Order: sequence, then structure tokens, then C-alpha cells
Amino acid sequence: MMKRTLLRNGIIVTASDQFLGDLLIEDGKIAAIGKELKLEADKVIDAAGKYIFPGGIDAHIHMDVLCSDGSVSAGYDTDSVAAAVGGTTTILDYVIQEKGNSLLETANLWKDHAKQSAIDYGFHLIITQPNDTSPQELDTLVEQGITSFKLFMANQIAMSDKELFNMMKELKKRGCTAAIHAENKDIIATLQAEYVAQGKTSPAYHGKTRPELTEVEAINRAITLAELTGCPTLIAHISTAKGLQLVQEAKARGVQVYAESCPHYLLLSDENYNLEGYESAKFVLSPPLRSSENFNGLWQGMLNGAVDIISSDHNGFSYSTHKQLGQDDFRKIPNGAPSIEHRFGLIYSYGLEKGMDPCRFVELVSTNPAKIFGLYPQKGTISPGSDADLVIFDPEAEHVISAETQYQKSDYTPYEQRRLQGKVDTVLLRGECIVKEGKYVSGLDYGQYLKRSTR
Ligand code: MN
Repeated sequence: MMKRTLLRNGIIVTASDQFLGDLLIEDGKIAAIGKELKLEADKVIDAAGKYIFPGGIDAHIHMDVLCSDGSVSAGYDTDSVAAAVGGTTTILDYVIQEKGNSLLETANLWKDHAKQSAIDYGFHLIITQPNDTSPQELDTLVEQGITSFKLFMANQIAMSDKELFNMMKELKKRGCTAAIHAENKDIIATLQAEYVAQGKTSPAYHGKTRPELTEVEAINRAITLAELTGCPTLIAHISTAKGLQLVQEAKARGVQVYAESCPHYLLLSDENYNLEGYESAKFVLSPPLRSSENFNGLWQGMLNGAVDIISSDHNGFSYSTHKQLGQDDFRKIPNGAPSIEHRFGLIYSYGLEKGMDPCRFVELVSTNPAKIFGLYPQKGTISPGSDADLVIFDPEAEHVISAETQYQKSDYTPYEQRRLQGKVDTVLLRGECIVKEGKYVSGLDYGQYLKRSTR
């Protein structure tokens, strides 16, 4: 028996269009869209006065991150649920190749981690041992639907320009996409050593040792590598207006380069590094928060198309445990902050305030991530044949973010007490209702692994 669900009278929004209509779901896929569809269904959902968005796609998250004391950040069992409640139906997890593991072993390990996912998921692999990465291994990963790889210019796992250049050529050959963490490793390490030698070890110095130009320089180099190799390249988590401008200029001359930013670079400034006591550790992430002078340029890019995607860069760390690891040295603070649950709502609400229309919102949080990472049109849009991943969103409701009420496992949120306009009401994943009246109503493990296509 075919299972049919009908959504009535919602404002259906895609990246290119918005209109009042009905939507029929058959066996987990969108079957028909129209006005006043005269169709029978097993279940009818009244969406009057509400938006129907394609499910959010968060293309940059981290689950189960291993810390220096052997503890692990929040995982799929809690934070995939948090994502769902927040309007996200697909996540792409950046999984790191630990020392001694091959990329294939890494992928297999994470398929195990993700068994309890509430929502659909895929992986980008973070290559940390480029010398051991064989072409055959890349071929096998592509067959498994892993078609994007993260390369670091900074931190302990940074690659040299030679390694980046060679790896990007291999990725280009296979129709894969590179995602680059762009910060200048040597300058940051030198500044860190200088500050620590002077006894400057508090979280405040995380920001001071990673000045804006260390990102801008690295973005420029990443673009150069993209241009030289022809490898489609996403500049991950852009934090500076200048860095974004470089990407915009490169696109204009035909380089296949994409800009990702995150809610925290649009909404939180480096004043969070001047908090009392050790509180600033909550905001230690890389690249760091920047001066509020960057907000204008980044928000302009949100409106005019310079920013391609918004991801959370979620790390489910807790303040009372993981973040305490850097009490005597800011370099030991696990980098990252929780936001998988709030990305969608934050960008809707603050976007509205800045004059962003709902189509552009959908493009940033769902359609472009699907297109860039090989999931479109299965995901990322509302169209016949696409998966029925849908968010019914009440624009009139309000929502106050707090650690106490969030589904995320972390014991804090960087957005404590922010009041948002609009609220996720219902979430459907492949036609199944997983969130109802803002509450998770499904069982764990409904999420499916997504094989992604090459270019
Ligand atoms: Mn990240």
C-alpha cells in the first residue's frame, strides 16, 4: 500500500520561488505540488499560515570529537535529534583520520558512530596523512559516496602547499570537492609561542594569536591552489569580510570556489574573549570570533550571494568538562562550540531582520549545500521526485534559546537567551513526521547514510 500525506495551504518556499499551495507526499517522496489538490491521503497536515521549507542541510558538523583526556564530544544519539528539532534533516559530518588509520578505516568507523542518527547523514573525510593516501583508496571512497575531503592549512594536521597542490589535483581528477580550513599555520604557532612565553595563557589569547590577516593570507593561497589545480574548493568557515571579498573576486574571474560562513561569525564578536574568569573558553573556536567590523561585509554577502552556504561547524563540547582542558593553556581548549540545533532558526530570524527573503534563506541553509556536495535534487529542494524532507515553520511564533531547554547535549549555548522570530513546528524526513509541535517524536536510527555524487 502506498502511503500518502497531504500538506494543505502552506507557503511553499524554494530557492527560486514561493507560493501558497498544497503538497502531496507518496512513499517518502514529493509526488505533487499545486493549488487546492483534490487528492485522497492517509494523513492531512494543515500548514495554513506557515512556511514549508526544504529540510535544512548542515554541511559542516562534528560528532564524537575525541579530546586530549580521552573524553568525547556529543554524538549522534543526542545531537542528531537536536538538529532535527532545529529544522535540519541532513548533516555532513567532518570525520578525522586519526593517526595510523586509513581513510577507509575512518569511514567505516564513522558509519558505526552514525548508526543512531535521527536524520540522514554523509561524511567528508579530513585527510591528515596525505602521504599514505593512495589513489585506489580515493577511488573506493568515491564509490562509497564520499566525494568531498577537508584539507587543513593550520593546526597540527596542516598540509604543506606541496601536499595541498598534489591532493587537490587528485580530487579534481575524480570530480570531488575540497574543503579548506584556511589559516596561516606558522604565524599562528609563532604568536602562540610568544604569548605563552610571556605567561599569557588565558582564553583571551586564542583570538589575539590568530589575527585576521592569518585567515586572509591563507584564503588567498587556497584560492590560488584552486585556480592552479581546477579543483572545486569550498573555503570553510569564513570569519572575515576581507576573506569573503577575495572569494567573491575569484568567482568573478571564473575560479570554482565557494564561500561558507557560520552563524557565530555573523552574530558573535571577539568581545566574547574579554569575559570574566574562564568563561571565554566557551567561545574558543577556529578561526576565532572577529571584531564586529566584519559583520557588515559578511551580512552583505549573505544577502547578495557572495556567501554560498551557512553551516554550524557544530562541536558538542560542554563547558564544565571538555572546555576545562585548557585552564592552564588556551592552546589546549578544544576548538568549537555547539550550534547544530540553532543554525536554521538563527539565520531565519536574524536574516529577516537584515531583509533576507525566504528564498535566499532556503538557498543558504539547504539548496546550495545540496548542490555543492552532490545531494541535489534528492535533497535541498521541494520538487516532484525529491525526498520529502520538509520543515513546517511558524513565522509568527517566537523562540528563546537556552541551554536548559535545548536538545543539544552541551551544557551551554553561545546564544543563551537570544529571542528568535519564527519557530520550527513540524519536521518530515522522507515523509515521516520526526518533529511535531517542536518536539522530537521519532525513534533513533531512522536516519540513512547518503551516497553523494561527484561532479
Ligand atoms: Mn569544523
